[in-house]
Amino acid sequence: MSRIGILGGTFDPIHVGHLAVAVWVRAELDLSRVELVVANEPWQKLDRPLLSPAQDRLAMVQAAVDGIEGVVASSVEIDRGGLTYTVDTLAAYRAHNPDDSLFLIMGSDAAGGLDTWHRFEEINGLAELVVVDRPGAVGQRPPVAHRVVVCPLLDLSSTQVREWADAGRPLDGLVPPAALAYCRHKGLYG
Ligand code: ATP
Ligand code: MG
Repeated sequence: MSRIGILGGTFDPIHVGHLAVAVWVRAELDLSRVELVVANEPWQKLDRPLLSPAQDRLAMVQAAVDGIEGVVASSVEIDRGGLTYTVDTLAAYRAHNPDDSLFLIMGSDAAGGLDTWHRFEEINGLAELVVVDRPGAVGQRPPVAHRVVVCPLLDLSSTQVREWADAGRPLDGLVPPAALAYCRHKGLYG
């Protein structure tokens, strides 16, 4: 029986804020591993122009976690295809690993908007919800049972990274080196 953390996201691109959350929550809750689950089609972001292809976002996450103990990339939502609903992902994990304990990890910005998520009332029956504060959303909490884990507050988002890339700003130190090499190779962003 394992204790598994799930950190879902668009990861367009992955940045060090994501990694710090995964590593710190894993340590605090003594998790076997944290899976960074890359959304296939994040239904709340479909209006965003130029969402990077799912395979590229996955490849960046895979590159970024290489060498980080207990943090892995997951393609389950991409493999499932279609619109991405976290509750489906949790239900699938539960079905395949009935003895594991699941922890759904999210930043406080996401937690504060949880009541807009598809079938959010079912999350508590599938996983324990873990919230980490995020600059700009400190103290925002979900309308359901949860616990809070304290992590370093890193004021960084993929949106900001994309804007900086467009403006020609350096991204070293913000995006993990192997992920940055991949996005340069593919000509993603800026
Ligand atoms: P975007 O700006 O495109 O929404 P993002 O930086 O918010 O990108 P997501 O892929 O949307 O990244 O986030 C995935 C998960 O990681 C969410 O639960 C989000 O709250 C959390 N997260 C992202 N960045 C941080 C951060 N700097 N600190 C804490 N949590 C974060
Ligand atoms: Mg986000």
